[in-house]
Amino acid sequence: MSLSRFQALDTILNRSGFDLEYVDVPEGKISDFFGCNVFNDVTMQGYMSPSDYDRVKSAIDSGAKLSREDADTVADAMKRWAMDRGATHYTHWFQPLTGRTAEKHDSFFTLKPSGEVTEEFDAGTLVQQEPDGSSFPGGGLRSTFEARGYTAWDPSSPAFILEVGDGKTLCIPTIFVTYGGHSLDYKLPLLKSQAFLEQAAIPVCQLFDEAVAKVWVTLGWEQEYFLVDEALFNARPDLLLTGRTLLGKHSPKGQQLDDHYFGSIPERVYAYMRDLETECHKLGIPVRTRHNEVGPGQYELAPMFEEVNLAVDHNQLLMDLMDRVAHRHKLRVLLHEKPFAGVNGSGKHNNWSMSTNTGRNLLSPGKKPGQNLQFLTFFVNTIRAVYEYADILRASVASASNDHRLGANEAPPAIISVFIGETLSKVLDSIEAGITPDEDGVKQVLDLLSKVPNLELDNTDRNRTSPFAFTGNKFEIRMVGSTMNCAAPMTVMNTIVGRQLEQFHAELRGLMDNGKDRDAAILTILKRYISESKPVRFEGDGYSEEWRQEAARRGLANTPDTPDALNAYISDAAKELFTNSGVFTERELEAHYEVMNENYILKLQIEARTLGEMVINHILPAAVSYQTQLADNALKLKQLGLPESDAKAQLDLIKLISENINYIKDNVNQMTAVRRDVNEIEDANEMAKAYCKQVKPLMEAVRTYADRLEYLVDDREWPLIKYRELMFVR
Ligand code: ADP
Ligand code: MG
Repeated sequence: MSLSRFQALDTILNRSGFDLEYVDVPEGKISDFFGCNVFNDVTMQGYMSPSDYDRVKSAIDSGAKLSREDADTVADAMKRWAMDRGATHYTHWFQPLTGRTAEKHDSFFTLKPSGEVTEEFDAGTLVQQEPDGSSFPGGGLRSTFEARGYTAWDPSSPAFILEVGDGKTLCIPTIFVTYGGHSLDYKLPLLKSQAFLEQAAIPVCQLFDEAVAKVWVTLGWEQEYFLVDEALFNARPDLLLTGRTLLGKHSPKGQQLDDHYFGSIPERVYAYMRDLETECHKLGIPVRTRHNEVGPGQYELAPMFEEVNLAVDHNQLLMDLMDRVAHRHKLRVLLHEKPFAGVNGSGKHNNWSMSTNTGRNLLSPGKKPGQNLQFLTFFVNTIRAVYEYADILRASVASASNDHRLGANEAPPAIISVFIGETLSKVLDSIEAGITPDEDGVKQVLDLLSKVPNLELDNTDRNRTSPFAFTGNKFEIRMVGSTMNCAAPMTVMNTIVGRQLEQFHAELRGLMDNGKDRDAAILTILKRYISESKPVRFEGDGYSEEWRQEAARRGLANTPDTPDALNAYISDAAKELFTNSGVFTERELEAHYEVMNENYILKLQIEARTLGEMVINHILPAAVSYQTQLADNALKLKQLGLPESDAKAQLDLIKLISENINYIKDNVNQMTAVRRDVNEIEDANEMAKAYCKQVKPLMEAVRTYADRLEYLVDDREWPLIKYRELMFVR
């Protein structure tokens, strides 16, 4: 009998105390403590003279470089604030291409050569650090003789204090670059893409409103996750090492009854959520929504939207907090896109829009017809950008773990399409079908637009099967995986829409220089864009087989496997797009591509090894042991002189178990042999493809037979926590 499974189950049954009383929520309203651990504008004002603050603030807002003196002033204010709040250490906090965040803590405490002991933190330490970054993925950007990586302060995202137990650390958001300035992280391309989009969007906005001087991207993410008890988690080597179950027969009851979705939240989970939300609020993460998701044990959390750079930082910080807080509750959070086969996976919807300094959301249809033309311009340009660069957008959400989710009958397919709803489809269709963009046509379109109902309030027109859906006043990108750094798809969105707006503006200038009226010229171009990008619009069931066929007829790409999808990053079109927009250099793009391929290979390598060990060390011994019991029984029946037919069931089972054991052993052997060959491949993408096409199917075969054994073997002998236990035992 396997002890660990039953010990784990026993542990849970005896758990108590993790209810709401366990959570320490500060007294008073959320607004009383919201952001108390953030070095935000209000805090900064408290620690700086008014003139220093004004100078620093305006430099930060305009993206100008801070002088050494000003940086020193900020560093000093930050240090005093952090120490007043009990911080002893500081760290540059950055987002390497591993997907998570990285930190290296240093103490403020310094021993001077004179023997004097003080606490120090100056501009030099604030602005730049050299963590020993040689172990972070770099895709060949750092040759061995120049392995240094640098972190550089990003003043546009405020510093914060992370509390772990009694320890408090000042965290400074930074970008991570090579000695030569190449990006090694997700943040630098994101910041560049935001700047690129802004410079492309401002002239377009100014066609409608001269007062627009700033445009920024807004991101509101929705984070899905699973929770399991720590004891169960630790008893599953696959969860521990890979974040997902590599084996496990489906539970007879999964999510069929839909009884978990939006159901009442179990108290222990509720306590976790309250605790997590409190931590988020102290760190200025504006989380507002929580609910049960479709899968048993699956939940979702969402904040108010924010400026994209801050929203990305907040999501990265959130994933870290989710993990830490879960430990306190003896829970483990599963951020993996597909922890369990047969039930829904987890995504991270990215709601994307653009805002202006004049207070407008550029994707809000608004009520005034004049503004509606501005809406229509940004709306249609976004759709066309997605049409034109769908493959790059797809590549930005490609990963080994997200491959399990996209197209799995619960998540959007790997085909990029745009859903806009019935009302707006009608508007675009009528513009396309006929209205001629002369003065009369302009009036007709404005008339049509003024009749667009308030979509922001209308939640009925939803299509949950679309990877890219317009939801009232923003586009919701649903293909993003739950573990991912939002920055990758956001960088692509900003860049492709920026590029599209540049093109639009150039075309418009051409027409207007030839004497065409502004609105008529805009409509002439939009009409063409609507028609050109029509194949990407789809309002039907994105999960259906018909759509796959229809999409193929329309010429839309369907790349379900990451190694294929990633190639879009190094296509000529991508190189041209990213280098001209200044978002990636060609070398950075290639390095990024290399890292994504390596990540894929490593993930599959670890999974294949873990699976091999699990079946050889856990599953086969359990099956053999049970089979021996059956054989003993059959032999004893025979000794008693009973006819063989009396042991028929036992003998059948013995045979079946042997068959499955042999299949497993054969496939594991083959998997090991294939891996040995595949690991010799030089090119990372070729190796990734080989893992995908050769190793993955063998893993699936092993699983099939192992899951059959789970069905055959005595429950008391089964060593691994079962699906029903993982999902339903609390
Ligand atoms: P749901 O998609 O679950 O129905 P909502 O429509 O209320 O929920 O919004 C979901 C997310 O959209 C929230 O995280 C919210 O912050 C975000 N959101 C709302 N408006 C914008 C916007 N202008 N830009 C970016 N995100 C937004
Ligand atoms: Mg949503």
